[in-house]
Amino acid sequence: MTRIDKLTALEILDSRGRPTIHVNCRLTDGTIGSAQVPSGASTGHAEAVELRDGDPSRYDGLGCLKAVANVKDPIAVALSHINLADQTELDERLIALDGTANKSNLGANTILGVSIAFARACAIEQGIPLYQYFANLIDQPPKHLPGLTVNLFSGGKHAGGQVPLQDLLLVPLSASTVSQGLEDVVAVYNAATNLILKKYGMRRLSADEGGLAPPFPDIDTMFNDALKAITDAGFTPGQDISLALDVAASHFHTDEGYILLDKAISAANMISTLSHWVRQYPVVSVEDGLAEDDWDNWPALKDQLHPGTLILGDDLLCTNSTRIQKAIDCGACNALLLKVNQTGTLTEAANALKLARHAGWQVVVSARSGETEDTWLADLAVGWSADQIKVGSITQSERLSKYNRLLAIEAETGLAYLH
Ligand code: PGA
Ligand code: ZN
Repeated sequence: MTRIDKLTALEILDSRGRPTIHVNCRLTDGTIGSAQVPSGASTGHAEAVELRDGDPSRYDGLGCLKAVANVKDPIAVALSHINLADQTELDERLIALDGTANKSNLGANTILGVSIAFARACAIEQGIPLYQYFANLIDQPPKHLPGLTVNLFSGGKHAGGQVPLQDLLLVPLSASTVSQGLEDVVAVYNAATNLILKKYGMRRLSADEGGLAPPFPDIDTMFNDALKAITDAGFTPGQDISLALDVAASHFHTDEGYILLDKAISAANMISTLSHWVRQYPVVSVEDGLAEDDWDNWPALKDQLHPGTLILGDDLLCTNSTRIQKAIDCGACNALLLKVNQTGTLTEAANALKLARHAGWQVVVSARSGETEDTWLADLAVGWSADQIKVGSITQSERLSKYNRLLAIEAETGLAYLH
């Protein structure tokens, strides 16, 4: 049994300078755990609701003072000084207190802050690392460290829309540790920085997640520049380092079709374009290759891409068990992109994870484009034995704090790196 003594919260700023929430949870034995909550920009419409103040006189309406107030009342009022059996009971009480299907009453950001601050306080109280606490929630020991997928080039909603695709990521394959994987991707990032300075006369200006965003004339040039950077850094593309794509296709899908560089194309053409890229370039993973509600075409996307390619659902699934079950039933994808704030509690995210695992899917634990310096995501990826972690690029401390936490976990546990 655990008892919360006090819950407090404050409004802080995320990596885009937008407000978010920080929650402190003090247990009755005096243990304190805290958590900071991330925020997306290319959000799926089925995500749980992020509560914003809507007051135009502060932060363009994005303030989080209502979320902060909700932690005090009703959450602290209802949950302090009662016996809580475990994380599941806390999360179920939070869900009941909110009382809506999409957490629009108290806010998924508010609820997640409490859920994770409580988790951290419990881990400290139990004298175990946070990744072990997360592992205990799913009754599975951490099996390995997650593979890295690191943002190299950015477009879409995370940059100036130079290319419609949101991220082109590096997947280090020949590294046998997190530490070596990071060293390899930093070398490629630096080679890409030199390349774009020479080719586009552009200094190292980066997008929301630290990816480079030069004015590529077309998408093939973006792929070829990535391959050149890999080669310039002394690696063999496809052997040492592969590529992953977050297409984020919902954000350029219209009634006319998919708008790829000024031209509207059909879903069938979108699939054949993706299939061409996967054959032409060493692309091992395609996230949100089609729009979030294009359910009819997702099974064809999965069938037509190379069988070894990860077909990842982000906006499609929104870490929502109902949508994941639908995707399993219709054969829409073979991997889940897991973002805890899309659903709002650790317990619901754990259920999404179990569902995906049961279907034989891979799982990629992901940060958001608006992040904080908090590191709980690295512990989550290890504790839930994610196949991959997606945090962004290797610049900006809200990204590096997670990589640095992975390095610390690697040094502490000696767990094998999945690659
Ligand atoms: P978001 O982007 O955090 O802005 O939603 C991340 C992603 O699409 O994977
Ligand atoms: Zn995505």
